[in-house]
Amino acid sequence: MAVNLLDFDLDGLAAYCERLGEKRFRAVQLFRWIHQRGAADFALMSDLAKTLRDKLAAQAEVRALPVVSEHVSADGTVKWLFDVGDGNAVEAVFIPEDDRGTLCVSSQAGCAVGCRFCSTGHQGFSRNLATGEIVAQLWHAEHALRRRLGLAAGERAVTNVVMMGMGEPLQNYAALVPALRTMLDDHGYGLSRRRVTVSTSGVVPMIDRLRDDCPVALAVSLHAPDDALRDELVPLNRKYPLAELLAACRRYLERAPRDFVTFEYCMLDGVNDSDAHARALVALVEGRAQASRAVGRVPCKLNLIPFNPFPASGLKRSPAARVQAFARILQDAGIVTTVRKTRGDDIDAACGQLAGEVRDRTRVHERLRRVPIRVVPAAARAG
Ligand code: SAH
Ligand code: SF4
Repeated sequence: MAVNLLDFDLDGLAAYCERLGEKRFRAVQLFRWIHQRGAADFALMSDLAKTLRDKLAAQAEVRALPVVSEHVSADGTVKWLFDVGDGNAVEAVFIPEDDRGTLCVSSQAGCAVGCRFCSTGHQGFSRNLATGEIVAQLWHAEHALRRRLGLAAGERAVTNVVMMGMGEPLQNYAALVPALRTMLDDHGYGLSRRRVTVSTSGVVPMIDRLRDDCPVALAVSLHAPDDALRDELVPLNRKYPLAELLAACRRYLERAPRDFVTFEYCMLDGVNDSDAHARALVALVEGRAQASRAVGRVPCKLNLIPFNPFPASGLKRSPAARVQAFARILQDAGIVTTVRKTRGDDIDAACGQLAGEVRDRTRVHERLRRVPIRVVPAAARAG
């Protein structure tokens, strides 16, 4: 099979070009054609020698992902479903805002973590995406949007990337890092480290490796203020409990491009949304809780995500007033807290609704259906 040039970061492409007897600056030219200009046809790369173009045409390609569908929401959100073969499909979502355009990118077909409230988690895990399949989502979105929006040369459609699509990025570490480097590279997409966010459910050893290899902005999916509840909602917590996770966050901040970690907290009606949960969360991040005592205060922002329901979850979204009351407790304690606006609702493009199509090879979904979730009765909630 032809070599997929989207699999390479610039160093990888330079090594490949060297094997073809070409100097590094040729790799830079080629990389710029591919990522900055969206070219896939070597014949069009006019400043490359004809001999190199012929060599590339014979053994390499820029392998885009076939688009199964594209939906545009009333609010401008765009969702693409990409075919990744073998009956699997993954999604990417573009969210336009006044001052930025954020692309939410998938890292795996399905996910093995199996969080209770996540539609991807309910589908189970099929396989890791290759670097080229992660990058192809950005490549397609950026260049399709530039054409559609009629952007001038040098103008960008995607200004921010969040690894918050399908999959747990830190369980696909080897493919993730070259993809991140391509996003950051000045000859690639030129995104600053603070505009690329890796969101993780808490794979502690890989948080440390990311810090050393490619520190970008870090978001951590918390969802619960104590280990007992988090064990139920995010099964990975049984392996890496809160104390270890928070300690890893603090270590990460020594090298991070931002001086805080974003904690995501999905608001589930009657499960994790009481005043008591909010107070426990404050204690946790301030280092006063049992689980966090060893690590002290963690510089953080809190992002409350209204749960996006899907039928198999059996869970409900917290009422807006409950989310506000919860946010208030955090804010009163001096924690910067935002409530995420739900975008692209009408096209099922919101967080955790990304289902794609996955051939589950792990039966995570069966495990999830067997275990009922503990719901706190409404009367006990305000306390
Ligand atoms: N696996 C990574 C990144 C993908 S999920 C992680 O878990 O962080 C991206 C975000 O969407 C996470 O914070 C996740 O908890 C949240 N999410 C998942 N399902 C959701 C749902 N149904 N409603 C709202 N947010 C959800
Ligand atoms: Fe996987 Fe993230 Fe969904 Fe959990 S929330 S199942 S880690 S994609």
